Amino acid sequence: MGQVFQVVDDDGTRLDAHYEIDSESIIFHSRGGTKGKGATNTDYSLGLAVLLDKLEGHAVGIQQVWVDSSQVQALPITDRTIFGLSDAHGSTQDALKLIASRMKSVGRIGSTSGGNSTRRIRIRVGNEHSGQLESILGGLPVKKDMRSLDRVPAEDLRGVTAEHVWLAIEDMRNGTEPPGFGPSTDYDLLVDDCLRLPPKAVFGLAATKALGFTVLPKHFTAGVGSVCFEVLEAAGFNVVSKDTLATGQVHPVPSDDHSWTEGQPKLVEHLRRERARGAAQAKKDLFRRVHGRLFCERCMMDPVQIYGDEYGEACIEVHHREVRVSAMTANHRTSLSDLQCLCANCHRVVHRELRNLVAR
Ligand SMILES: [Zn+2]
Ligand SMILES: [Zn+2]
Repeated sequence: MGQVFQVVDDDGTRLDAHYEIDSESIIFHSRGGTKGKGATNTDYSLGLAVLLDKLEGHAVGIQQVWVDSSQVQALPITDRTIFGLSDAHGSTQDALKLIASRMKSVGRIGSTSGGNSTRRIRIRVGNEHSGQLESILGGLPVKKDMRSLDRVPAEDLRGVTAEHVWLAIEDMRNGTEPPGFGPSTDYDLLVDDCLRLPPKAVFGLAATKALGFTVLPKHFTAGVGSVCFEVLEAAGFNVVSKDTLATGQVHPVPSDDHSWTEGQPKLVEHLRRERARGAAQAKKDLFRRVHGRLFCERCMMDPVQIYGDEYGEACIEVHHREVRVSAMTANHRTSLSDLQCLCANCHRVVHRELRNLVAR
């Protein structure tokens, strides 16, 4: 990242707005954060107006403006261009209006409503002006850590589901290394007794699946209290500090199942498997995505119809449908298609059947 300049208006007032110069283009930084919580570039609109005025005052024509924030960098520039040569006939005010309104609709993620008109943009001028931009714009060179401007908004990060997390972990088990992420320094995500993964890398890969662009370490923060850890834990995984020893209690058999599984290592293994970290959450997310809601795959009971939508889904459990537990080898890997959504009653019945099957 190059030298950052602070916008200074004609009266010499320093605005809370920043840009960089990259030969013949200006990278105008996005507004970030929320009011009162470390908001950055709060003078976004004013700062942009000042820059455009300076360009106009020096008869520097704008050739193209495009949205350059991290969320849309995977899109071709033509798809995120918001101002072109054919727009360059009006006043600065006209240009600002066009830029602000078109910026909202570029690369909107899913149903995130409204869009946002304070994003990072690139303003390209003719190459005859490269080398002059610094003096024309007259900004104040500042030392500023601009990493936070690359951050993906929290509401987008919260779109990462348990299913994305599960798929990311499966990919990493199979050797995928998300680009740019190193080993973790302080925390591990516990997958099972034998496998710990760097939480930030897992989340980065899951977010890449969810958001449709390559999510890099600079795009979000990890650590206690971060959206990253919050989503990983909601997906059913524990994030522990590196010095925590594996306990061997990764997914214990619940006490009400102890009596009938006693002395049946295969059944114990079955119960452990369907309680495997993340598997149940990921299965439910997948099921909801495909069917629009949760219901019992055996008796077709729709829990929301019977128990209401607030708590009804609590009676849907995830069962490992591999009946021949005896055929499962120790390193048989659970896949989401091995799992079934069952109501608590059916689940109990299926387990009873299983018990007889094993006893025979
Ligand atoms: Zn059922
Ligand atoms: Zn089960």
